[in-house]
Amino acid sequence: MKKSRWEDVREWFRVVVWKPLREKDWRQAGRQSRKKVEKLTSRGWRRDKWMLVMGSVICVVLVLFGVVLLLQDGEDKKAVKAAEEERQRQSQEEALKPEEPEEPVDEEANAVPEAVDPRAEAFSVQPGNVPGTFEAGEEKVVYLTFDDGPSRNTERVLEILDRYQVKATFFITAQWPEYKSMIKEAYDRGHTIGLHTYSHDYSVLYSSVDAYFQDLWAVGELVKEQIGYVPCFIRFPGGASNTISANYSQGIMTQLVSLVQEQGFQYYDWNASSGDGGVCTTEELIQNSTSYTQNKIMLLCHDSGAKDNTVEALPAIIEHFQSLGYTFKAIDRESYVVHHGVNN
Ligand SMILES: [Zn+2]
Repeated sequence: MKKSRWEDVREWFRVVVWKPLREKDWRQAGRQSRKKVEKLTSRGWRRDKWMLVMGSVICVVLVLFGVVLLLQDGEDKKAVKAAEEERQRQSQEEALKPEEPEEPVDEEANAVPEAVDPRAEAFSVQPGNVPGTFEAGEEKVVYLTFDDGPSRNTERVLEILDRYQVKATFFITAQWPEYKSMIKEAYDRGHTIGLHTYSHDYSVLYSSVDAYFQDLWAVGELVKEQIGYVPCFIRFPGGASNTISANYSQGIMTQLVSLVQEQGFQYYDWNASSGDGGVCTTEELIQNSTSYTQNKIMLLCHDSGAKDNTVEALPAIIEHFQSLGYTFKAIDRESYVVHHGVNN
């Protein structure tokens, strides 16, 4: 059985102190005690040494573990610090970076520029602003006016007008809607667009004042689709002097000539006629058209699909008047106005 240290101490005391004291053999006791002590001490020392070594090992391990932890912690802290420094550096750089000038949002530049069309303002129908003058003046002008189109002939008419650098006026109908794009084509080439009639059916449009305006605004809308506005220039089917309208409504022309002007329209009759292209030969058309000599010639021509002769006669008619010093003009707000006498 193993002795405890306390028993060692008691043994030591008994051997070293008590027994010698009792036996009074001090030398003997001294020798024995030295041996005992040596023995005890060496045994204790061995155990203590082992414990010391173990303890030291544990301590070293603990210290190493602590050191590792500290180092690890240091690394972590360093990493955190580095990250923080990097973040600060970036934010400083951000702050120091010169502010990039914001792209100016130029809405005007981005917007598709609307084509300025001075004619839209000038030629649109405006109540209280009836265009035209009745003063013929000295200037020799031919106003070529084409009724009843657009039609299959319009393209050829436009080509001839371009060839002679001549501007004209087209009084529009909706008789051949498949050619309605020619309205814009003529307008874009610098010709004036006026309103004639949507249906060209006298029995309908002259049946009443309301029926007339319904028809007029219908063709007005057709034209607006093409050129962007309802023009103020109109031509009555058959002219203001027609008597056919009396078959459908007595006195209607008398009412209409003033009512259209109240709404801001101006009606243009003619003081020269090429003749009926469906009846006359090309030669007759040329002869009729070139018989006029007044300074302001408002020449009635037709741009209907049935009247090819007008197209064929056109070059000769233009050449005739150009040779006499006339200029050809499209109708505008200042143009000479021809009014027929009203017969119904
Ligand atoms: Zn007509």
